[in-house]
Amino acid sequence: MRLSRYFLPILKETPKEAEIVSHRLMLRAGMIRQQAAGIYSFLPFGKRVLDRVCRIVREEQDRSGAIELLMPTIQPADLWRESGRYDDYGKEMLRIEDRHERDLLFGPTNEEMVTDIFRSYVRSYKDLPLNLYHIQWKFRDEVRPRFGVMRSREFLMKDAYSFDIDFERAKTAYDRMFVSYLRTFQRCGLKAIPMRADTGPIGGDLSHEFIILASTGESEVFCHRDYLDLHVPGEDVDFDDAAGLAEIVKSWTTPYAATDEMHDTAAWDGLPDDQKIAARGIEVGHIFHFGTKYSEPMKAVVTGPDGKDVPVHMGSYGIGPSRLLAAIIEASHDENGIIWPKSVAPFDVGLINMKPGDAACDAACDDLYRQLQAADLDVLYDDQDTRAGVKFASMDLIGLPLQVIVGPRGAKAGEAEVKVRATGKRDTLPLTAVVGRVL
Ligand code: ATP
Ligand code: MG
Ligand code: MG
Ligand code: MG
Repeated sequence: MRLSRYFLPILKETPKEAEIVSHRLMLRAGMIRQQAAGIYSFLPFGKRVLDRVCRIVREEQDRSGAIELLMPTIQPADLWRESGRYDDYGKEMLRIEDRHERDLLFGPTNEEMVTDIFRSYVRSYKDLPLNLYHIQWKFRDEVRPRFGVMRSREFLMKDAYSFDIDFERAKTAYDRMFVSYLRTFQRCGLKAIPMRADTGPIGGDLSHEFIILASTGESEVFCHRDYLDLHVPGEDVDFDDAAGLAEIVKSWTTPYAATDEMHDTAAWDGLPDDQKIAARGIEVGHIFHFGTKYSEPMKAVVTGPDGKDVPVHMGSYGIGPSRLLAAIIEASHDENGIIWPKSVAPFDVGLINMKPGDAACDAACDDLYRQLQAADLDVLYDDQDTRAGVKFASMDLIGLPLQVIVGPRGAKAGEAEVKVRATGKRDTLPLTAVVGRVL
């Protein structure tokens, strides 16, 4: 992509309304624009990162055996009356009336709708296990939308729903998602720590929030140091091996970790001080086993092996990709701007032409641009006629992992500089060696 033809509205001034660094950087790097309180457009640069994150989420959901569908954003109120949540949900739910005076709502989550889909088609235990997910916009009328897409009112959520014949199998479904989440966040360049979370009125201990440690996080969290070095399962993890999954989950839930609502001060005080991390955290994912909470009132039953009908055991599993963008920036930036982990970077390389109009410089850059694209890399080519200082500052701000810099003198000598954004390290290379270095 040539910068001269792209839409990247970079802001020079630091926006006053942004309280935290990720929000400031997302606005300055032309990623998002607020359209109303807590409602954002994703501008092209932001959209690219969102797509990269969703792709990782999708790949890891698919790998674990979950199946993608797409449910609508608008839901009929009647489904929520069946579960009893229409009245319970309160003011966070955006309620809508259509021209025929029918009650609708903008979905804050999809348990009811997916349960309706399930009960319409699935009759037998033989069709289980089943896990259906979608990636769809949600709306929650948050009391205090803030921090940009970190806590917005309209936000993207991946929500998965598992269906099983009994508790034990539902636990395996839970473990599958748990492991899938470990892999997902690791691939996004994040260290996410699963922490015991409140299950509310439903009880049981099967709920974990996945938390990124960050000083700007909204939750107070407590965990053991061991989490920083625990092994995340590789691609070859077997999602059909229930015992193996349970082992992994056990190793990831044994050291102490809890959010403030679940904090057990007695257990915490028993830990040696040098092993404790008391910090703030960002909730990027939440998994939950709720058994028959929806299947019972909504009559989602299957026939078991003994011929008897039983309500299906369910769990739900959420990740917020739009919030993840902000969390990734909170975890990976410096005073000059964003530092994208390679896996989610909107472009792989930024190519800087220091002197557009200089014949040697243009020729070298055009040639590198072609070569890098031929090597299957996404390149953002700064071919604009602006000052060197502006080019460097903008490229650092938007945080692409690698920069290739070509000036008139270098071009004549057949050389370019390659700069690693994260370390600031620069190397001068022959033009012919650039692609090999960047790959
Ligand atoms: P929070 O505690 O931050 O309000 P939640 O517990 O209400 O989040 P869940 O219902 O568990 O959220 O939703 C699953 C995921 O959706 C969250 O872990 C988070 O990543 C994302 N999410 C929830 N609310 C928002 C929001 N207002 N803005 C952006 N992402 C959100
Ligand atoms: Mg909430
Ligand atoms: Mg929460
Ligand atoms: Mg939650």
